[in-house]
Amino acid sequence: MAELIPHPFASLIKRMFVELETEQSIFDFPAKKFFCGLSGKDYSVNFHNKNSSSPLGPASGPQTQMAQNILLSWLGGCRIMELKTVQILDELEIPRPCIDMQTVGYNVEWSQELRIEQSLHEYVKGAMLIEILRASGKLDLTDNFGDVLYDMSVGYDLAGIQSEKVRRFIEGMLDASEIVEHYRKQIPEQYREFRKLDFQTKISDTLTLSTFHGCPPEEIEKIIDYLFREHGLNCIIKLNPTLLGKERVRLLLNEIMGYTDVHVPDEAFENDATWEQAQGFVERLGATAKTLGLGFGVKFNNTLIVENQRDFFPESEKVMYLSGTPLHVLGINLVQQFRGKFGDKFTISFSAGIDKTNFADAVALGLTPITVCSDLLKVGGYSRSSAYYKVLNSRMDNFGVNDIESYLLKAYGNAEQALENIGFGAGKTSGTEATVADAFRKILVEGGDFRKFAGSEEAPLANEIFEKWLAETKLLNTKTYVDEVTANARYGIAQNSKLPPKVGTMLELFDCLTCDKCIPVCPNDANFALKIPPGETEILEFEQNSSGWAVHKRKTLKLEKKYQIANYADFCNECGNCDIFCPEDGGPFLLKPRFFGTMESFQTFTDRDGFFLENNSDTVFARFDGKEFRYVITGNSVHYSGPDFEVQFSKDDPENTISGEAKSRVSFRNYEIMLMMRSAILDSGSPSYLSHT
Ligand code: SF4
Ligand code: SF4
Repeated sequence: MAELIPHPFASLIKRMFVELETEQSIFDFPAKKFFCGLSGKDYSVNFHNKNSSSPLGPASGPQTQMAQNILLSWLGGCRIMELKTVQILDELEIPRPCIDMQTVGYNVEWSQELRIEQSLHEYVKGAMLIEILRASGKLDLTDNFGDVLYDMSVGYDLAGIQSEKVRRFIEGMLDASEIVEHYRKQIPEQYREFRKLDFQTKISDTLTLSTFHGCPPEEIEKIIDYLFREHGLNCIIKLNPTLLGKERVRLLLNEIMGYTDVHVPDEAFENDATWEQAQGFVERLGATAKTLGLGFGVKFNNTLIVENQRDFFPESEKVMYLSGTPLHVLGINLVQQFRGKFGDKFTISFSAGIDKTNFADAVALGLTPITVCSDLLKVGGYSRSSAYYKVLNSRMDNFGVNDIESYLLKAYGNAEQALENIGFGAGKTSGTEATVADAFRKILVEGGDFRKFAGSEEAPLANEIFEKWLAETKLLNTKTYVDEVTANARYGIAQNSKLPPKVGTMLELFDCLTCDKCIPVCPNDANFALKIPPGETEILEFEQNSSGWAVHKRKTLKLEKKYQIANYADFCNECGNCDIFCPEDGGPFLLKPRFFGTMESFQTFTDRDGFFLENNSDTVFARFDGKEFRYVITGNSVHYSGPDFEVQFSKDDPENTISGEAKSRVSFRNYEIMLMMRSAILDSGSPSYLSHT
């Protein structure tokens, strides 16, 4: 079983620039699919009093775990990064596989798999990579698409959050100066101009709290209170869909959407905060935040705890967590329930089944941030988010608007009703306020800049009216969308039961359908194309007889595909996601050539086959079927050894020069494969994590 191993910062930088230059991609994300903003469009939103260039972000999860993942999210157009949850228990054994995206999305995964200290470093490295890439000017980033925010996520109980480890993490995120200096020095010589950058050192002062399913409400309240007072953080509490209540969850999930085989256990409701309790702590914490001058809000939703009745995850896992499409309907209904009570008083962060068809709707509801996880694990991976903007742009264009607030006002045609609801029905009022309202009405019909007018000195009440109007429109939009989404068949079981196609063949080390699906679906960019050209290689098998060594057999190893698929073990946590989407069976991460980044990881994970290439020498270590092999080439002389042999020969002429000891026949198949691996990684010039160390 492999573990995630963070990559050296210098190698990430080199790989980023070299790959962009030579392959027009970054970490296997094709440049033509980057979303760098659109001239004339302003998607910016306010989150805890800071500007972000877009409400879109990756949810705390697989897309915000490693430094390269954070950059990949950014390249897809994400601008509020909810970083993967850290917690005191940072040496957990997470069951594998841990993500099942076959239909709607289930997981048994939870917090960060790295140590807390490593997570802090990965987050700082990710932020620095983004700053370096921005500063390089190599992307066509539009003017108003540069602001990015990082949101911490910690879990899961008060004792853990108060621990020294978590305290150090939070303090490190608030002031990462030392870590930034540490990595500044590691910027490679050829990119030294970036050493001068004024890197952001306060990575984050906002936090989204993730609690255990079943965390007592008093504990949730104490944690947020502690984070406010002790660390001065702006906070969001992630709440559970169980707040809708047993009857409503089951009505929506099992009856209306038809997921009759998904069972939410009674305990899930009994152990979680009730709606009454949640209203209480939200009210009190909101008041505390106001007193302290901090931001406070809620997040809908956490995943939904359901019984593990499938055979995908290990049987030992009694429950699993539902995400994706059906959670969207639950989450939106919760937004309505919450707004029914609190209006637009608190920020609502949203994460539940966001995809290209509903992102623009979530924007119309004024949700911030709008975070996504499950959809980015599907075919296309991080690049899927550029389609979100396509839909949003097209809707904005239809309304002739170029910013989020104007879009929100026009999205569902509720703005006039909203004006009426706040006391400015057309022709029904008079006085200064009514004049201001009429001016807004005119902008709504004829176009113009709402914010500019709201801020103008000649209309002193305009700002207040505008805020009320926006708030009321959000509430009406929520109602419009909830009615639509709850009845929408696309969230029901019938449209979410199709399994990804499988062709019935088993993967082998070489050649496959070469569909490339496994590359972008990996959130860590562990899978990659290995440039081994097609061709035939003669495989000699030697035997020792009384007169020395002789060729016993000649076979051929034939590679037919234009290139091969490989896996970088240090980035593969064996989550299983690439197996789900690979049309062949067996799992690319298990059956394709696996490369270890260091000798240490090669020697640690001995239950996995794979290769380790020594960078400064012509030495390759390999494990085939659990048995270790090694070759060392010095000049023209090869030393090749395996479990029961050790031979030497001349590279150009093994047949006539082989000598050494062996207990049985020696096939050169593994040797030839090891040669191919080395050549593909180190000699082909194509970028990989291994070629830029
Ligand atoms: S290579 Fe496959 S199994 Fe490994 S982390 Fe990526 S998606 Fe998960
Ligand atoms: S391993 Fe599977 S998903 Fe990857 S390219 Fe081959 S057939 Fe496609």
